[in-house]
Parts: sequence; structure tokens; C-alpha cells
Amino acid sequence: MTEYDVIGVGLGPFNLGLAALLSPVDDVDAVFFEAAPRFAWHPGLMLPGTTLQVPFLADLVTLADPTSRWSFLNYLHERGRLYRFYFYERFHVPRAEFDAYARWVAESLPSCRFGSRVTAVEPDGGGWRVVVETPGGVEEHRARSVVFGVGTRPAVPAVARSVLGESVFHTEDYLTYREKAVTASAVTVVGSGQSAGEVVADLLEAGLPGGLTVDWFTRSRGFLPMEYSKLGLEHFTPEYTSYFHGLPAVRRDEIRAGQDLLYKGLSAETSERIYDLLYAATVDRADPPVVYAGGCELVAISPSPVPGRRWRLTWRHRDLDRTFTRDTDVVVLGTGHEPSPLPVRDGVLARDALGRPEVSLDYRLTLASGAPSTLFAQNAELHTHGVGAPDLGLGAHRNSVIVNQLAGREVYPVRDRTVYQSFGVPEEARP
Ligand SMILES: Cc1cc2nc3c(=O)[nH]c(=O)nc-3n(C[C@H](O)[C@H](O)[C@H](O)COP(=O)(O)OP(=O)(O)OC[C@H]3O[C@@H](n4cnc5c(N)ncnc54)[C@H](O)[C@@H]3O)c2cc1C
Repeated sequence: MTEYDVIGVGLGPFNLGLAALLSPVDDVDAVFFEAAPRFAWHPGLMLPGTTLQVPFLADLVTLADPTSRWSFLNYLHERGRLYRFYFYERFHVPRAEFDAYARWVAESLPSCRFGSRVTAVEPDGGGWRVVVETPGGVEEHRARSVVFGVGTRPAVPAVARSVLGESVFHTEDYLTYREKAVTASAVTVVGSGQSAGEVVADLLEAGLPGGLTVDWFTRSRGFLPMEYSKLGLEHFTPEYTSYFHGLPAVRRDEIRAGQDLLYKGLSAETSERIYDLLYAATVDRADPPVVYAGGCELVAISPSPVPGRRWRLTWRHRDLDRTFTRDTDVVVLGTGHEPSPLPVRDGVLARDALGRPEVSLDYRLTLASGAPSTLFAQNAELHTHGVGAPDLGLGAHRNSVIVNQLAGREVYPVRDRTVYQSFGVPEEARP
């Protein structure tokens, strides 16, 4: 059993950022275990033409340490692409390039181990016993601290769980089953987030010429754009995070219930692309078989009675409280994500009434015992820290806070004033 200062569970962008920021910190001995065989960022949605939804400065390290070797710009430099990028002049880089950059970092850091699933994290004499399933068998290690970066998993509506497969699947698996979708006669997309929008745009582009019928329904009020104004984006800051964390839990849930469009919704570009595809498809031609509507909730999926159709979907219009049915062949669930389970047995962590872990402002998971915790969470704290939790732009800040605690000193400066807006009573107005 090897002893580490810290063990990281999961190597999505957030824990990979932690591994990168820890790499120059010689007195913190770290290892990271990732279940997947190699780094691959949302491979099911690596659609051509898709980009990061945030500027490239939200890479793994730059907002914590712009001099880091592991920055996106240095990756381009090491790959001889910096001049090309200079003339490319885009802040939102191709999603595929962010994926390639992160894989370069993951494959360059000796602390990253792939093909290794952590199955248990158990209290062990003031530290933690970590059990890992690796290609070479089960390993056990000890660590003073553990950082969970297990990310999210597809959220599948209850009505669809029993029929999942190649004709009913989540957007996370789109590229796996894309061929079946674009060559079908009728496809239905559920949801109005960015992933759903990207799938609809791809289906229109690839399928309309062949007469593909596309249904697109969402239970949200409509197909609305994600907030992207500069004053709105100030919610994705350390200030707003600490303001939000300081509120009572009920107040936090109320506020977040009204903030969907701050972190969900369609990008303006994708909304425009879809509309333009429809406009182009109707020049001097009848309307294509594309039906889309908001306020419609999927309430049932059953085999279709119509010959040649695979599924009958039953929808409830929320405002009208009326149900209707549509028949289709393939269903793509753009129904978002939910936190992945933390491999910690019940009873170790303090959880709120909804079963969500309690997370302190400095990202420590609160223990049910009330003892000081050396467990940290990445992107599992939407309910305590607000809309910035899944945002790449706040990854480096969160990792700076975590690294400084692991090292027991300030390795990366953490500023509590990063933008202009005040949250709560402005300082200038305080007595
Ligand atoms: C298609 C898509 C595009 C996005 N684009 C952006 C964007 O442009 N900008 C932005 O700010 N946000 C974006 N997001 C939101 C968010 O940044 C990403 O979801 C991001 O991947 C979250 O990173 P993560 O490290 O929390 O987790 P994930 O990327 O979900 O990675 C978690 C990793 O943990 C591993 N794991 C889980 N459990 C275990 C275990 N027990 N043992 C070992 N390994 C385990 C999983 O295999 C996984 O690889 C996007 C989300 C999606 C779905």
C-alpha cells in the first residue's frame, strides 16, 4: 500500500487541472486515478464545428498561473501552432482542440493513471484508504487527502430508462449512434440545452436533404439563449461563488431555480445556425417535416402502433395540460447531466435533506462525524456554490483554493475581488 499526500478520483478537466497545478509543487505527493483508458472529453459530442463555450483562457491552469507550462498557449507553442492560432483569432477554440490539449497534459503528467476505477474511499486512521480497480488487479493506497473530480453522468428521464439502446439514447452517446439517427425516417430530440441544439443542427444539416422528419420538444418555456453578456457572466466569479455560498440553503435553491439560462440553454450561435438551416431549406420549397415546441414534457415512451415507426411518444403540454402523441424511430435525450456518485459509503459524508453533500466554501466535503475533513469536491457543489461549479472558467480558481490547502501555504494567489460587480450589499455601502 503506497502512501500519498493526495489521491485524485477522476480525471476530467477539473482534476486534470489540479494535477497540472500540483506538478511543480514538490512537497505534495499526488496520484490521480481515472476509470477511462485515456483522456477523452465528451467524445459522444465531438461534433465537427463545435467550440468551447468559454474563452481559451479557461484552460486547465492559466487563470491560476499564466506562466504554467501546461497552458493552452504553451501547448500550441510546443506543437508549433502558435502562429496559426495568432491568425486564427478566435477566443472560442474548437472543442476537439481543447480535448487534444487536455490529452497532451494528461499524457505528460506522471501522476495521472488511466484505466483505474476507484471503487471505495474509506476512513483510515485520520487519512483515507483508497481501493482502485486497475488493469493489473485491485490496488489499495492511503492518502492524507482525497479530491473527487468524478464529474457528471447523463440524466435519463425515468420514462426512458427501460428502453435505452441504439434507438433511444442520451446526447452523450450521439456520435456512437449518429448513423442510425441521420439515416432514420423520423428522429425526436428532447431538451433545449446546448447539446440538444448541436444534435438538432447536425440532424437538419445531414438529414433534411433526405427528407428526415425531426421533432424537437422541451419542457422548458422555449429554446432560449444561454446568458452571455459581460455583466451576466460576472456570476461566474469567486465573488459570486462566495456570496452564494453564504446564503441559507433554501434561498440558494430558490435563486438557482431561476438561473437556468445562466448555465443551461442554447448558445446564440447554435440557435442562429438552426434557424438559418430552416430558412435555407425553405427557399422556394414547402416547409420541411420539422416540428419544435416548448412547454412539452415527455410522459411516456411505448412501441409505436404505426407500421414502420419504432416509438410512440406521449407528451404533456404544461401550460394547456393537454397530452398528445407523436411517432418516431429514434429518440435523442438532451436531458442534461447529474452529479456522478462519490465512491464513499453511506454515513461518512454529511448530506442535506435532498441527499446532496455539504461542501464548505473552500471545497471540503463535510463529514457526518463533524470531524475536520480532508475530502474535497470538484463540480459536485452546484447547490452550495452556484452556477459556476461546472464552468471551466472557475476550475483554476477552485484548484488554487484546493492546492493551497493541500500544501498548507499559498502556492497560487486567490483573489476575492476579480470583477466590478458587487454581490450582496456593496462594500461601499457597508457601515
Ligand atoms: C458536451 C459538453 C461540452 C461542454 N463544454 C463546456 C465548455 O465549453 N465550457 C464550460 O465551461 N463547460 C463546458 N461543459 C461543462 C463542464 O465543464 C464539463 O462537463 C466538464 O467536463 C466537467 O469536468 P469534470 O472534471 O467535473 O468532469 P468530467 O469531465 O465529467 O470527468 C469526470 C471523470 O471522472 C471519471 N470518474 C468518475 N468516477 C470515477 C471513479 N470512481 N474512479 C475513477 N474515475 C472516475 C469519469 O470517467 C470522467 O472521466 C460541457 C459539458 C458537456 C457535456
